[in-house]
Amino acid sequence: IPLLEVRDLRAVIAESRQEILKGVNLVVYEGEVHAVMGKNGSGKSTFSKVLVGHPDYEVTGGSIVFKGQNLLDMEPEDRSLAGLFMSFQSPVEIPGVSNMDFLNMAFNARKRKLGQPELDPIQFYSHLVSKLEVVNMKTDFLNRNVNEGFSGGERKRNEILQLAVLGAELAILDEIDSGLDVDALQDVAKAVNGLLTPKNSVLMITHYQRLLDYIKPTLIHIMENGRIIKTGDNSLAKLLEKEGYKAISG
Ligand code: ADP
Ligand code: MG
Ligand code: MG
Repeated sequence: IPLLEVRDLRAVIAESRQEILKGVNLVVYEGEVHAVMGKNGSGKSTFSKVLVGHPDYEVTGGSIVFKGQNLLDMEPEDRSLAGLFMSFQSPVEIPGVSNMDFLNMAFNARKRKLGQPELDPIQFYSHLVSKLEVVNMKTDFLNRNVNEGFSGGERKRNEILQLAVLGAELAILDEIDSGLDVDALQDVAKAVNGLLTPKNSVLMITHYQRLLDYIKPTLIHIMENGRIIKTGDNSLAKLLEKEGYKAISG
């Protein structure tokens, strides 16, 4: 059975009632990497926010089933506890709280809600260090305050570290490549690749083809005007690279 099954999903902006998603269909199985691409304003971020239950949007039709559960019946926090993770385009700064303390609190809060054992600081530290290795990051990162004075690349790496530490069956990464130079992009991609297992899936949202040089998707979807208008393999990305979105546009 699919990990995520989206059928004819329609959503409006809650305030203005303007329809943004106009019938999105998408099926993701365990262990797959999917890329959703499309021009600016095509509805990619709206789609990812609707998946996690962002209050700015209201679903007006269709269904989202995650691990056999109806996501639309669940609060955002319960979606996260069920195994959905989303990175945000602009993560917040938390002055005065170190990255390590933040991650420890978030990790234990999650364990409590799941009814699973929490880790004491020493146990948590070894969990953290093992994940730092997976995502290829240095320990000096941990004593910095959350996102304070982070460069664009450091923020992105920190999001991946959060994903690694908290764990998720489906990670939604919205423009994880935005504002990164090629070196930072390669680091972030390496970290994401380190997290891929036969059990976990990733939904990457991106405007640019270059991310797909480093993270190989199972399938690529092109979004236009609130719908997925085309799905294909890496050859679709090559076509985009050569001819741009106009080659695909309906
Ligand atoms: P993308 O991520 O593909 O660039 P978005 O999902 O961010 O596209 O936006 C799709 C369209 O919906 C855009 O025209 C955008 O301006 C509009 N939109 C999305 N969310 C809101 C919102 N909360 N308020 C007003 N307009 C919005
Ligand atoms: Mg945009
Ligand atoms: Mg966007």
